[in-house]
Amino acid sequence: MIPMVNLKAQYAEIREEVEQGLAETIARCSFILGPNVQAFERECAEYLGVKHAIGVASGTDALHLSLLAEGIGAGDEVITTAFTFIATAEAIKYVGARPVFVDIDPKTFNISPEAIEQAITPLTKAVMPVHLFGQPADLTAIAGLCEKHNLKLIEDCCQSFGASINGKQTGSIGHAAGFSFFPSKNLGAFGDGGLVVTNSDQAAETLQMLHNHGSKVRYYHDIIGYNSRLDEMQAVILRAKLKRIDQYNRARRRAAHLYSELLGDLPLATPYEDGLGVHVYHQYTLLCDRRDEVMKALQDQQIACAVYYPVPLHQQNAFKEECAGVTLPVTEDIACRCLSLPICSSIEDHTIKEIAGVIRGVLSA
Ligand SMILES: *Cc1c(COP(=O)(O)O)cnc(C)c1O
Repeated sequence: MIPMVNLKAQYAEIREEVEQGLAETIARCSFILGPNVQAFERECAEYLGVKHAIGVASGTDALHLSLLAEGIGAGDEVITTAFTFIATAEAIKYVGARPVFVDIDPKTFNISPEAIEQAITPLTKAVMPVHLFGQPADLTAIAGLCEKHNLKLIEDCCQSFGASINGKQTGSIGHAAGFSFFPSKNLGAFGDGGLVVTNSDQAAETLQMLHNHGSKVRYYHDIIGYNSRLDEMQAVILRAKLKRIDQYNRARRRAAHLYSELLGDLPLATPYEDGLGVHVYHQYTLLCDRRDEVMKALQDQQIACAVYYPVPLHQQNAFKEECAGVTLPVTEDIACRCLSLPICSSIEDHTIKEIAGVIRGVLSA
């Protein structure tokens, strides 16, 4: 069986370091907001080129707390994409704001800056682009729009750890950004975890309180906050992987380019790199009109594949009422044709060749 991600091979490389770190943590018995969380936050801030990094319990929490810290709340509109994981829009709902879904670029699948501009109303307070599948959204254009219209830019970086635009890391450009360390992400923990980053001292101070019951000083609570801390054990694992993240992302890019080389002449669209930033291939996602046949052939050969995402958010039951009448032609078309293939930092060339061979067998027949 070839899985979407092979986490076991990656673990084998860091096993000693992780086991030692976990053993030390257990011996120290300092489990909440311990030294590894603090060190990981510092190391992330340095790697990402931001002033502040605050570990939280998940990527979903990272987005939720980012919106709160930037003052987004009831009655506000937040422009975002419908072609994403639901957590992007859930976070907007949690703060009482309304997600306004706009269409995407047909080549990169990222939110369209033109569509954003058309959707701005007097109620718009923020824009939340997703760097989908690891490819940076067009933040140069989007940041310009946000400045012009006085909107907060909050980046969903849950799929883009290590991706960059003109040498700047995703997450370092907006007012705030949320990252996820869900195990299958480019930087993945052994459980849930997340991170909020910002260059604003004020937002960072609020985030420090929000993620730890609203307190700066223990048992003194200035605001109502949450229990959303990055776990000390997860921080041990994440520190080992952060050291190697560029190597992991290079391996993903190499794998993606090999797929594209092997599949390039077939009747499908391989992922498009717009050259605006460095794509870190959280997913390798192609477009294919004969998706069902390809999926069946892969499944018959015990090769995993997946549709990210089969139902755009404006068509989900959870948003049915508030999105009545909303149509997003590009998003809806892509959702019918997209197919993601196995990719991870440890995927081997012969595996990619085998997968490409099965797809060729279907499409050249
Ligand atoms: C994974 C993901 C999230 C949520 O992250 P969790 O850590 O699972 O809460 C949010 N947005 C996008 C685009 C994601 O891929």
